[in-house]
Amino acid sequence: MTMATYGRKETKATLSQNRIRIKKHYGQNFLVDKNMLEKIADTAALDERTGVVEIGPGTGNLTTQLVRRARHVLAYEIDEAFIGMLEETFSEERLTLKHGDVLKQDLDADIETHLGDAESIVLVANLPYYATTPIIMKCLEETTKIDRMVVLVQYEVARRLSAVPKTKDYNALSVAIRYRSEHRFAFKVPRHLFMPAPAVESAVIVLKTKREQRLERSLESYFFRLVKASFRHRRKTLLNNLSVFSEHAKDTLEEKMKQAGIHPGVRAETLDLEAFIRLARIMHAP
Ligand code: SAM
Repeated sequence: MTMATYGRKETKATLSQNRIRIKKHYGQNFLVDKNMLEKIADTAALDERTGVVEIGPGTGNLTTQLVRRARHVLAYEIDEAFIGMLEETFSEERLTLKHGDVLKQDLDADIETHLGDAESIVLVANLPYYATTPIIMKCLEETTKIDRMVVLVQYEVARRLSAVPKTKDYNALSVAIRYRSEHRFAFKVPRHLFMPAPAVESAVIVLKTKREQRLERSLESYFFRLVKASFRHRRKTLLNNLSVFSEHAKDTLEEKMKQAGIHPGVRAETLDLEAFIRLARIMHAP
């Protein structure tokens, strides 16, 4: 069996030959334009020294571009329907395929095992819409092995990159991205290049991991949890969100917020990265 890797008609034919139904709940919007697939792979600047992590290879259209350019690709696919066809198409030398939910995987261990001899690691993916934020969050929080990420996301997520405090786009992801990476908006991807066309516009973003480790490991993991808890209910005050998250009594919390220079009545969306770092340090201290 040969597999078409791009083109609307070809992708439809491949899916039907293999009796694969498109599963909306897995965010399956296939990018079917060859030029755009190449442009994304080019943006990732891959070569024989680069190891790639791909999330959701699907029909293997982007994977084809990646295996051509990189040393080795490690890919996670949740939908079993694609596993057989991907295994038939790509040699094990070029691609390690893992069947499962990427959110449940140990990325550091897998990168060590399968991409251990690469000089740098790049994540390249057309991310499923329903899980874009948790996937990016996981990659920011749980691994330091990824050097850059080139990801296709809904335009709304791309806007969160540059979102500043006191705007509606600003959220936990904006803070985490700013903490961990230098980021840039690369380009827009029109809806009609996908099959099926998604309801929203898309864009490619590039995140380059910062090398400097500002907080030591256990404080850093506390910082990420604190940021997520702070935005849990947007309309609640920071104090109310944090009193669910923290073991400190409310008046101790108020005291700690004041020590960090934060008024207890404010909402999370008013705090910048530095304020979150100050607050994490003070709240984490015994
Ligand atoms: N790479 C293909 C492309 O560019 O056309 C498909 C991209 S499609 C937007 C998202 C892919 O991610 C689908 O193949 C879907 O089955 C897979 N996927 C969805 N949720 C996933 C998860 N939690 N873990 C791993 N793969 C997932």
